[in-house]
Amino acid sequence: MSGSRFRDRRERKYGYDFLDEVLVRCPRCDGCAIVTPHPGIAADENAVGAGVQPLHRRLRCTRCGFFKDQKVDSAVMGSPVDPYFQRPLWLRASCCGNTLWAYNLRHLDLLEAYVQAKLRERGELAPGAPTSLVERLPTWLKTAKNRTEILRTIKRLRSTVPAAG
Ligand SMILES: [Zn+2]
Repeated sequence: MSGSRFRDRRERKYGYDFLDEVLVRCPRCDGCAIVTPHPGIAADENAVGAGVQPLHRRLRCTRCGFFKDQKVDSAVMGSPVDPYFQRPLWLRASCCGNTLWAYNLRHLDLLEAYVQAKLRERGELAPGAPTSLVERLPTWLKTAKNRTEILRTIKRLRSTVPAAG
């Protein structure tokens, strides 16, 4: 296995799947809650990137039982809040003078793989393909001198996620 190589092909394969499971702070108990597509709506009528509106999302907390449904016209991405309810993300931490954040554990894994990789290769982008999440990463995440602190922060964040079930 060539563990030092990283291709962002995997991330593009998932694409908007990152947005189907977003870990946030519960509005009631401040525990780890999860935002998912509403279970009562067909997936293809409720997918980010499919051009459908509104999107039906459910926030639920396994710790206190709180849940809330919401319809939104679009997913607002690019900041450390969830794209639907605008709740603070669970996976966010100060790091290298910036804020490191991820929507879920898969997203965190991807960041880790990217930062760990000594050799970064760009997957071949098909014409018209959406700009990948990796290409949009801020410069500080790509800077070699930040690598150790970033990896340490990622590890710490991962340990804060309650076990599923
Ligand atoms: Zn709660």
